[in-house]
Amino acid sequence: MSKIIASAAIRGANRLYREAGEMLEKAIAGKGEEHRFEFVDTAFHLPMIYAMTGFPVKTLGDMRTALGFAKDLLHEEPSRHVWKPYLGEALDSGMATLFAEEILLALKTDAGLEPYKDPETGFVYNGFITDTIQRNLGIQLVDGTMPGFAAIIGAAPDEDTAVKIVRELQEKNILTFLSGNVKGESVTKQLLRKGVELGWDTRIVPLGPETEHTLYALDWAIRASLIFGAKKPGDYKAHLKYQKDRVFAFAMVLGELDDIIWTTGAGAINMGFPAVADTDVPVVHPSGVCIYEEVDKEFDHTKIVQKAIEVRGLKIVVEKPPIPVAYGAAFEGERIRKEDMFIEFGGQRTPAFEWVRMREMDEVEDGKIEIIGENWKELYEKGGKMPFGLIIDVAGRKMHKDFEAVIERKIHHNINEGQGLWHMGQRDLNWVRISKAAKAAGITLEHLGVIMTTMMRHRFRSILDKVQVSIYTGEKEVLGLMEEARKAYAERDSRLGSMVDESVDLFYSCLLCQSFAPSHVCIITAERLGLCGAYNWLDARAAYEIDPTGGNQPVPKGQLLDARYGRYTGVDEYLKKSTGGAVETLNLYTIMENPMTSCGCFECIVAIVPEANGVMVVQRGHQGMTPAGMKFSTLAGSVGGGMQTPGFMGIGRNFITSKKFLAGDGGIKRIVWMTKNLKESLKSAFEARAAEVGAPGLLDKIADETVAEDSEKLLEFLADVEHPALGMDPMI
Ligand code: SF4
Ligand code: ZN
Repeated sequence: MSKIIASAAIRGANRLYREAGEMLEKAIAGKGEEHRFEFVDTAFHLPMIYAMTGFPVKTLGDMRTALGFAKDLLHEEPSRHVWKPYLGEALDSGMATLFAEEILLALKTDAGLEPYKDPETGFVYNGFITDTIQRNLGIQLVDGTMPGFAAIIGAAPDEDTAVKIVRELQEKNILTFLSGNVKGESVTKQLLRKGVELGWDTRIVPLGPETEHTLYALDWAIRASLIFGAKKPGDYKAHLKYQKDRVFAFAMVLGELDDIIWTTGAGAINMGFPAVADTDVPVVHPSGVCIYEEVDKEFDHTKIVQKAIEVRGLKIVVEKPPIPVAYGAAFEGERIRKEDMFIEFGGQRTPAFEWVRMREMDEVEDGKIEIIGENWKELYEKGGKMPFGLIIDVAGRKMHKDFEAVIERKIHHNINEGQGLWHMGQRDLNWVRISKAAKAAGITLEHLGVIMTTMMRHRFRSILDKVQVSIYTGEKEVLGLMEEARKAYAERDSRLGSMVDESVDLFYSCLLCQSFAPSHVCIITAERLGLCGAYNWLDARAAYEIDPTGGNQPVPKGQLLDARYGRYTGVDEYLKKSTGGAVETLNLYTIMENPMTSCGCFECIVAIVPEANGVMVVQRGHQGMTPAGMKFSTLAGSVGGGMQTPGFMGIGRNFITSKKFLAGDGGIKRIVWMTKNLKESLKSAFEARAAEVGAPGLLDKIADETVAEDSEKLLEFLADVEHPALGMDPMI
């Protein structure tokens, strides 16, 4: 490593260590050593310090101890005459910097200075990234819809360049964090002035205006190995290796570098994250096992994204339909407000539906797009609203009628990924908007068809040979066809309802999360969806048909060993092999003995409440306390990482109303507490299920956070309403 870089990294670390120390002593003088601190919604204290050293910082006094660890890593700046390899010193300094920055940001948060609000513009930066967001995005990390992260530090030479760079990252579906500034100018400000929508929905997340704020991105990265990788706090080698192997992050440094940027960069290099600068920096090439450059440069801003991707070794395949707007998963979360809207379809404003129909091969003309309706062109040009019947006819040798629903669900993503296109709902409750900007860029009604033919063939390439799209715009026709579509939906639903674990020969595995949680496998049965909620049995089967060597594999059920607990020889054999022996046996229908493992991206957690002889269910993101005595974030910390934890389990939301939910433990009658959010969102399905098990009115007997957040109040409530769990067999 060059002497210039090493010296800068060492100087920067010393400075940050001093600053953190001064601020800390002031805080202790004011609030005392015992003053407690925690970042919002995390179970991992100060995550970087916790992962690297195993030391949980809970108070200001603890910060003093932790700052001592940073001190041990500091070095003196190399003198002018000495030439020796500085890599070790620089990397140590980088780590000391991350500790010091984490303490600084914690102190600022405690003092109410974070997340930072820009006094000029009123813009509020994201600040610390919560565990909830980490888990929400888990699935996108593993299924390839989010191939990596970029941290952009500094400012582009001008606004247009800033926009071009982030748009290119968006089109490649990369999540981008922004931090730092060059003499007060920053990419965040440049984008704000250009009216670019910032935030998680568009995958451009401004963390804060200083270089130090980059630490929030590293804090988020390090939690991947804690949450999904189940690496032990303190096992720093394991964490760093995990980061390097599995977290595809890189930094892009725009504008002049200073000591703080170099030292933060040295911290990131420890984690295997390289940096590409647009200035004339000394290039640091790989040494030892490292296969890519650690620091590189690219002066041409039209090439810098590609360069960074190559340096980090990312493989990105993006399929884009031929339409006149940008396209990619990063545009999925974009909203279109009424003022920005050119035209809308459905959403209770006009009759609308969407329907995927399986057809015979000779009934479908591949690539054909037809728009049917009087004066549809003029009506579209006028804007406002229009009826919309979208029928997608598909055919293929490996197509199966059951896949219609799977394919139909992709309409949502297909449309939303277009910049300036928006979709919500499904079936006959769909709602589509096209923005004024997209219209100005040349989007027509045909393009919606083009998106469908291109993306359906791409996403389902091995089951679909032909895709044809018809769009109806006449009110009468749409209403007529909608009746036909409704019949088809109803047939589908009744067929799905009859599909139970006993009636299928195969279950499916989902191995996607193994890239983050190596010993976790989801077993997806006809009545139990994956714990992230994104894959049910049909999805898994379709995914297997599409890619027989992919992340969803058939699992022959084998012999049923235990009908009550749901134990099958085939499942056990499969798990033994696919988890490298970590899981030997699994019971599908109980939480008490060898339950399903969790990776970390579960939608909900079920946890036993022994005093109440039942279980509670809390969904990801719920911030309050639960009767288990832990918040969601803490509970989640004890469930993830591919371990079987009797009494605790991560599940997909819709599993709650399945007949197989804790069937061996007494089913839904065991639920004594559930968040209001879950009670409301599952209401109709839950009530139907409760009636089936002879417990109508069960939902009202289940406590929620408005009634009890501790077990004492919970027990009072349960006794009052005579909850059935109180009279059931003891759980333990
Ligand atoms: Fe991960 Fe399971 Fe979802 Fe697959 S189904 S993506 S393994 S959580
Ligand atoms: Zn997962």
